[in-house]
Amino acid sequence: MTVKPIIMHPDPLLEQTCERVEIFDSKLKRLVRDMFETMYEADGVGLAGPQIGVLKQIAVVDADEEIGPIVLINPEIYDQNGEELGVEGCLSIPSLYGEVVRSQSIKVKAFDVKGRQFDLKASGFVARAIQHEIDHLQGILFTSKVVRYIKEEELEVEG
Ligand SMILES: [Zn+2]
Repeated sequence: MTVKPIIMHPDPLLEQTCERVEIFDSKLKRLVRDMFETMYEADGVGLAGPQIGVLKQIAVVDADEEIGPIVLINPEIYDQNGEELGVEGCLSIPSLYGEVVRSQSIKVKAFDVKGRQFDLKASGFVARAIQHEIDHLQGILFTSKVVRYIKEEELEVEG
């Protein structure tokens, strides 16, 4: 496994629309493993293809101990409910945090590394992480949705 360099804002690669994955081969499996490795190394809870310079619809999320790692290939949110304000950051925009409104719960259709389609229901923080990553696949950064920026000191107060 290889830790990849993370592409930083304002690199234009972060604002491109990603292509669907059509070939589910060993190269894709290796890429997904590298994405997890890169995300864990950076202490992140999610990482999308463009953040390592791969303009493909691939995202990894690990935002809840009980749910564990999630691979999302060609993901589509097909149902969403409720709204929730919460704090987000991004591995491509270090030291910047802000409050963003997201759907409280979502239903997602996606493919796994073997090309099998699956359905996933998520809510709360995991749903937030998934929505953040799916935005990346459309070239959308969370900063375009921030309602209020949060100072790092405030984060520490919140624990
Ligand atoms: Zn991000």
